[in-house]
Amino acid sequence: MTQVSVFMDVEDPINPYADDAARDIARLFSGLGIKGSFCFTGEKCRTLLSRGRGDVLDAYQPHCLGLHTDTHSYHPTTMEMLADVTYEEGCRLALATESRGMEAFHSAFHRKPAFWGGAGNTWSPEITDAIAKLGIPAYSYALTSLPNLAIHRFNGVIALPQALSISETDWADSDRASMRSEQVLQSVQLLDSPWLGIFVGHPTRLRYNQFWDVPYNAGRTTASPEEATLADESTYQRCIDNLSEFLENLKRLAPIVGIDDVLKMGWQFRTPDQDELEHFRSETPKAIRGASRWPIHRANLNPEGIVAKTLSLESSIEVAELPKSL
Ligand SMILES: [Zn+2]
Repeated sequence: MTQVSVFMDVEDPINPYADDAARDIARLFSGLGIKGSFCFTGEKCRTLLSRGRGDVLDAYQPHCLGLHTDTHSYHPTTMEMLADVTYEEGCRLALATESRGMEAFHSAFHRKPAFWGGAGNTWSPEITDAIAKLGIPAYSYALTSLPNLAIHRFNGVIALPQALSISETDWADSDRASMRSEQVLQSVQLLDSPWLGIFVGHPTRLRYNQFWDVPYNAGRTTASPEEATLADESTYQRCIDNLSEFLENLKRLAPIVGIDDVLKMGWQFRTPDQDELEHFRSETPKAIRGASRWPIHRANLNPEGIVAKTLSLESSIEVAELPKSL
């Protein structure tokens, strides 16, 4: 049977009610008896600590937690930092930023991140070198791509692709929420995969009318924090109710596990065949180029260096499979 993990990203260091929204979401999952897989930025960890929000941090203790870069949309982003440097220089830079994120994460949660998730899918292969050195065994939202969304190991780190998602604008509209929920639940039943990742949004974007990082679009940096406008109370409540209903239905359909549990499922690794390598060579560059068009990135970001560095590590790919049950 397919097991699923449900992801949300907790990353807004600016808007004050984002903290309450993050706490509400953690308690929603806990109340339903569901272990979520939540990505936290280092900056969000520092913000919650400095605001004395131990209640928010405590609410996440029952869940699986990952590192979502140190500063997410602040410039330079991961891709902006790594696009134009050699792989060796990039490894040094990536280790410096992700070490800062890891330190903040540890101060907040007193544990190591179970995985690393790219911010806005921003990524470059030096990240895998850095997180391996930091003892983080896996990355989610993988841009490295194999047929059938297969889990794989790339440069020594386990790569978890994202299969399905439902957005905040879907949650805010009950008709759209039920339509999208139904589609995702059907996909969970139809997709022949031992594990599926489902992304269901950002707590802050349920509470506010826009993403917290819009002021950082196209390479911009703000002189002082620019707050988003609050969604009205009924919209926020509708988002929570629709998400809650989806989670209850999903729970009836498939076991919901954390990424820490997924990594313990007994994966075995083998070398890829020719078809799998050809898929990697053709689809991975598309995914990287797509991610480079994230609106936050500076206009002149050229992803081709990242594509080349990624393809040069092709020989490190191993396909993950579960042993066939007898
Ligand atoms: Zn994010």
